[in-house]
Amino acid sequence: MRKKLVVGNWKMHGNRSANAALLAGLKEAGPWNADVAVCVPFPYIAETALALTSQAIAFGAQDCSAQEQGAFTGEVSSAMLADLGCRYVIVGHSERRAYHHESDQLVADKAKAALAHGVTPIVCVGETLVEREAGQTELVVKRQLAAVIHTLTHCIGEIVLAYEPVWAIGTGLTASPEQAQAVHAVLRKQLQAATQKADAMRILYGGSVKPDNAAQLFACADIDGGLIGGAALKTADFSVICRAA
Ligand code: PGA
Repeated sequence: MRKKLVVGNWKMHGNRSANAALLAGLKEAGPWNADVAVCVPFPYIAETALALTSQAIAFGAQDCSAQEQGAFTGEVSSAMLADLGCRYVIVGHSERRAYHHESDQLVADKAKAALAHGVTPIVCVGETLVEREAGQTELVVKRQLAAVIHTLTHCIGEIVLAYEPVWAIGTGLTASPEQAQAVHAVLRKQLQAATQKADAMRILYGGSVKPDNAAQLFACADIDGGLIGGAALKTADFSVICRAA
């Protein structure tokens, strides 16, 4: 059986006092049956690490460099994330693919760099509304995942995958459980062809997961938890979602 995982993606939100309150609230609200983690902005990782010392809640970052080290101004390496105790790093979020022009190959290289330092990459894939309406959903997510499988080869079983339809992110439009499950099943099949570990791998759903739709989504056979944006900024909402997992 796969243990569910719920990850809060804080995006570019928060400040020291708001974060402290959110983390204190989460510590009180837990523990949950699912694994739980928060992926916070870089400047707040160290404080998050201190706040979550000896807590069941893991933490991580929202991006990392594909490079090892060197003259890459503004970049943060996965070695640095590991140094701070990060368990996870989100790579290939659609906002990075769209606003920073990250290619499938760059995302795969970032996942490889993270794994090399023992940080689990949460690799995001997902189609835009135009792609869905053109009937290209499968094609797009398979292409995105194929780059990662090709680059990681035998390590592919170590990643967490997240299906995040772009049209559902921050829009209040959630994929229905049936729509999400259908894509998750496609992704699972693609993983099965690549690794014997596929049945143990976690595939998260992300895109407007809220307290009132989480349980239905998490009940689907191939949905192993969620990547939560907006609702991860409210202790009560995030806690309900963690409990639903
Ligand atoms: P959302 O974001 O829950 O606000 O839709 C999810 C994500 O972008 O990871």
